[in-house]
Amino acid sequence: MAEDCIFCRIVAGDIPGRTVTETDHALAFLDANPLAPGHTLVIPKEHYSRLNDVPGDEAAELFGAVHELAATVEEAVDADAVSIGINDGEAAGQEVPHTHVHLVPRFEGDGGGP
Ligand code: 5GP
Ligand code: ZN
Repeated sequence: MAEDCIFCRIVAGDIPGRTVTETDHALAFLDANPLAPGHTLVIPKEHYSRLNDVPGDEAAELFGAVHELAATVEEAVDADAVSIGINDGEAAGQEVPHTHVHLVPRFEGDGGGP
């Protein structure tokens, strides 16, 4: 755990997160500033800054959770589609330095996305 990491603190239960689902090594929770209703973040429970830092088995579990959640998140808010993305590195727009996958429900003509 990185002491000053907001996502590590959510994993530890130090600050509240609205959990969607979890596995041994991955946690999915609602984004605090959603781009759309149901905007979900999926993270490894261990602190890794960048996607490439995540060991292969934990990455497989992370993307297994994304695979399972994509349809669930879309259906939960009656969306038409879902955008799935990672801002991998500061220059790509990564603000929280604990790697995370965005699942953003999309609606016909919304013009938004991650
Ligand atoms: P990034 O720009 O790093 O790809 O995305 C970071 C995301 O984390 C943003 O969508 C932002 O709304 C979300 N976020 C930042 N701080 C918190 C927090 O304390 N709790 C939750 N649930 N989401 C957060
Ligand atoms: Zn962290």
